[in-house]
Amino acid sequence: MNYNKIYFVFLLLISLAFQNCANTHGSLVHNEQEFTAAIQKAGPGDQIILANGNWENTELLIKAEGTAEKPIIITAEDKGSVIFSGQSDIRISGQYIEISGLVFKNGYTPLTEVISFKEKKGRYASHCRLTECVIDNFNNPERFANETWIALYGKNNRVDHCILYGKRTSGVTMTVRLIDSACQENYHQIDHNYFGYHQSLGSNGGETLRLGTSQYSLTTSGTKVEENYFDRCDGEQEIISNKSCGNSFLNNTFYMCRGTLSFRHGHDNIAEGNFFLGNHKDNTGGIRIINERNQAINNYFFGLTGYRFRGALVIMNGVPNSPINRYNQVVDGVFSNNTFVDCDYIQLCAGSDAERSLPPVGSKIENNVFYCNSPKKIFTVYDDISGIEFNNNYASPEVESENGISLKKTAMKLDQNEYGIWIPESPEIENAGCSLTSPKATRENTGASWYKIEEAELEFNTGKEIAVLPGLNTLYDAVNESAPGDIIVLSAGEYTSTKDIFIDHPVTIKSDGDEKPVLLSEKPEMFTLRNEGALMLEGLKISGKSSPDAAGNAVIATSKYSMNRNYKLMVENCDVEELNVNHSFDFLRVYKNTFADSIVIKNSSFKNITGNIASLDKETDDLGIYNAENVVYEANIFENVGGSVLTLYRGGTDESTFGPIVKFSACTLINCGLSSRNKSFGSIYLYGVQLADVSESSFINSAKIRLHLSKDNPVISLNDLNIWPSADIDSNSKDFSLRNLVHKAL
Ligand code: CA
Repeated sequence: MNYNKIYFVFLLLISLAFQNCANTHGSLVHNEQEFTAAIQKAGPGDQIILANGNWENTELLIKAEGTAEKPIIITAEDKGSVIFSGQSDIRISGQYIEISGLVFKNGYTPLTEVISFKEKKGRYASHCRLTECVIDNFNNPERFANETWIALYGKNNRVDHCILYGKRTSGVTMTVRLIDSACQENYHQIDHNYFGYHQSLGSNGGETLRLGTSQYSLTTSGTKVEENYFDRCDGEQEIISNKSCGNSFLNNTFYMCRGTLSFRHGHDNIAEGNFFLGNHKDNTGGIRIINERNQAINNYFFGLTGYRFRGALVIMNGVPNSPINRYNQVVDGVFSNNTFVDCDYIQLCAGSDAERSLPPVGSKIENNVFYCNSPKKIFTVYDDISGIEFNNNYASPEVESENGISLKKTAMKLDQNEYGIWIPESPEIENAGCSLTSPKATRENTGASWYKIEEAELEFNTGKEIAVLPGLNTLYDAVNESAPGDIIVLSAGEYTSTKDIFIDHPVTIKSDGDEKPVLLSEKPEMFTLRNEGALMLEGLKISGKSSPDAAGNAVIATSKYSMNRNYKLMVENCDVEELNVNHSFDFLRVYKNTFADSIVIKNSSFKNITGNIASLDKETDDLGIYNAENVVYEANIFENVGGSVLTLYRGGTDESTFGPIVKFSACTLINCGLSSRNKSFGSIYLYGVQLADVSESSFINSAKIRLHLSKDNPVISLNDLNIWPSADIDSNSKDFSLRNLVHKAL
């Protein structure tokens, strides 16, 4: 070998060495195969860098052994530029592995978990860290698929600075599992994560975080949940479901979340330094307590409106010799130094009934501050509270006193501080209430700073106006060309559709003036709401006279397939008529596994209809699942409607949901619900509805008002109703309020 050759080899080696340095001292991999080859060789201190790009249909098993001093690093070439899409998931197994910078969107897991700290049963991850990762709307199209986004197994793992946004399927967003001894006494840490918007699931299984399950609930987890930000986590009654022992919930912020931090099962847990900012949104709650030696200390609660199990503070009754999945008695609970500002409900001995007959014992409520700006009875006492000691609690004079609860009434001044937090002040209360003046967790200091969430909630009237003239399929074409939020404006005249109009995003269809445009369809359905769709109809006349002469037409139908996005339907100032070409012609027809966030029908008339206006009764499994959260009927006239004007069915005994909620007012029904095909046998039929207000309405020559009250104390009121001839109210229970019911003779 001559010197030239040696020199050349020398240069080659130098350049290879530099190349390795340029690769940020790790190996860059471009696909699942390259990754698998790299991880199999990886040892302590190694880095594997995932190349920027779309990692579609990628399932990574990250199985390796790092050390405490030299963890194995798995990261993105550029944080946020490595996208897992399609059918993708990650499993982690081994120890001391740190994973960062990855994004999951536009797809869903083919397994039941997106990121799992488990290879398989018995092989878990420990001392691993998942940081700055994002899961954004990564949902199975099947609403009840039952999937989890992050599942912690093993011990001593940390999940931090992650963003979890837009969970829409059944199954908890993040969970800690205690399925065997290798997963118990795990001391995980969950901190600085941003838990973003979670729509109402309309069923149990919509928790954002769950620690344990009832089966292992007497086992210690020891997980610390610290400084996380929960933003509008509205999935179900439990934002967090604690089902194990020895966990701490420290300095988290719950911003406008429906539901509560629920100490559902397990002992020796603590909630301290948390901010619950309800801002007067409906069904917002604080902390719910069951079991032994659980504590709520130094928390701040603002504008929480939730009732029953969703109160600002809910202390439950227990079941004697409770089975592990029911309610253990509250023993030795401590609730101290909390501040409650303008919260509507504090519930003591909640859930008291023949089964839940054990009131709390050995417990203390002390050094708390309760402030209300107007007279309010905030405490509800359902059973014997002698097992709760009250010491040194202060209340503003507006808080109404309750037997057995000692409150020191004192004038307080409410001041908003520089952080926007309202603090009640008085020289007398210096040693009581929450000592914190602002939440530690904010939207800014949680999650991954490099990721921008595109909020895509269904909103009407945010787009452009599209003017459309009468004609064949002109409306169909306009809807197809529309973008989310657009407003389609129709001139007077006839709009006949020979095709089913699919609604795939929020769209408004309205008239341009006083005269109502006429909508006709030659298809069995005029509009089909599909996933992501929402429809607003305003100032229109809808006629069924061009519809096919066959049974079972509908003006609006949901998808026949599962919809994982809650839809909205608004109908205002519309005249709907001649849905009578054949029998069972409905206005709205829904299908199983679809869920309306809201159905609002106002100032509209419905005449000569053979089917139902809205029959929301397709969830018949009696699992506490139903078809619509909020239903509002206001100032409508229904005349000659053969089917039911409104049927809403929620079966089962599950107590996890907020709705269904019905507001039915100022409506007139003439000759409604009398068809032999009306399976509900009622003009309106509310089954298992949680909150209903039916008022100022007339039922003339119509079928009965039918109610079926569930056992969990629904709030049902009927006020100012005229019924004639004397059709009846038919109910399984008398436990509803009835005021000013008038039977008139014709
Ligand atoms: Ca639940």
